[in-house]
Amino acid sequence: MKHSPNSPILLTSSLHVDEARKAIADLVSELLQESQTMHHPADIETVSLDHAINRILAEDLLSPIDVPAADNSAMDGYAFNGQCLKTNADEISLRVAGTALAGKPYEGEIQAGECLKIMTGAVMPAACDTVIPQEFTATNHESISFKSDQLKAGENRRLRGEDLQKGKAAITAGRLLRPSDLGLAASLGIATLKVRRKLKVAILSSGDELRSLGESLTAGSIYDSNRYSLTGLLNRLDLEIVDCGIVRDDPASLKQAFIEAAAKADVLISSGGVSVGEADFTKQIMQELGDVGFWKIAMRPGRPMAFGILKPIPGTSSARKTLFFGLPGNPVAVMVTFYQFVRSALLQLNGASQTEPPLVQAVTETAIRKKPGRTEFQRAILGRNAEGKPSVRLTGSQGAGILRSMSEANCFVILGHDQGNIAAGDWVDIALFDGLL
Ligand code: AMP
Ligand code: MG
Repeated sequence: MKHSPNSPILLTSSLHVDEARKAIADLVSELLQESQTMHHPADIETVSLDHAINRILAEDLLSPIDVPAADNSAMDGYAFNGQCLKTNADEISLRVAGTALAGKPYEGEIQAGECLKIMTGAVMPAACDTVIPQEFTATNHESISFKSDQLKAGENRRLRGEDLQKGKAAITAGRLLRPSDLGLAASLGIATLKVRRKLKVAILSSGDELRSLGESLTAGSIYDSNRYSLTGLLNRLDLEIVDCGIVRDDPASLKQAFIEAAAKADVLISSGGVSVGEADFTKQIMQELGDVGFWKIAMRPGRPMAFGILKPIPGTSSARKTLFFGLPGNPVAVMVTFYQFVRSALLQLNGASQTEPPLVQAVTETAIRKKPGRTEFQRAILGRNAEGKPSVRLTGSQGAGILRSMSEANCFVILGHDQGNIAAGDWVDIALFDGLL
């Protein structure tokens, strides 16, 4: 069975998390192929290094130079011609002809029987190919001596172009740029990078019970928190956010809001209105506006979800299809479904080559109850146990509406589809909320 939006999954059948992920990835790659969406020249911008963090590199970054630019010393020591190691002498003595510092090469020539005092990073003189570290030598006024079995010819020297050859890719297209990439580009003398345009992502919250911040709460109403969690999640990816506010549960308002969002954005993320009671209502609207599947996913939290495309809106500047995610309303489910489905899709749509967040493992401090047949995302805090191993403990109540469990946590414990109960001390997969570098 194909789980694309063209054949919507009935709400009664349950979809494996991996099937949902695959259906999403397939649709995004179709979109990329048919419209060349993010590969269009208009979708590439040039930014300076100080604005390039978290952007996605649009073209391979070719090195304009060899790195290092010249053979240089890997140690503080003495450079000499390694030929002398091939004689049978146990001990070698060399006259110190001069000194080379990083940034201050030695101008003269080193003759046989001579060496050059050299610092790490300093350019090797032409006749020298080997460096004896300072600590292996005995110095006597203007000469040094050392045991010849302490090194081989060619040691402790870094070769020109050893890190990177001129014309080779220093960073490949699709890299989500990290601090080290910016440093690498700078080390090549490159001041600007070609990156993908920031995706425009529209967000809206649907529900009659929702109130905006600053409004007073009447009986049964709650503050709209999802737009703020989503704003934070999207800002982490450094995307452009189009805030479409709160939309009431009535077909005309919802339809109007979807049309406006589709006209302005590459992607629309809504929350609420896709659970069993409300899905029929949303489905009707979606039939007119696009091609959207309503899924019941075998996961917890985050079971109901809508996914598909909104057609280009005639008479607007948006000639492209809009990717649509209808996330569940529960605040924790929003974050889990974003993590599990939306994040990778946004990265993929924006040309990133690596879209999956890394998983690591930790020992669980307590037993965890788990039914086979669904993937679970429990909120937890990663630390270390008495044996020094990475360990996790779950945070408070795990209800899908309890945002505090999410706020206190620093990782998800991810329990696979087929997994049953877990005993204390078992290893479990975890996904950290924050990356470090
Ligand atoms: P729904 O998916 O619309 O049935 O909503 C599921 C639950 O999430 C309900 O308790 C809603 O009140 C709550 N909810 C929906 N949208 C939001 C939101 N934007 N902020 C906070 N809670 C919400
Ligand atoms: Mg609702």
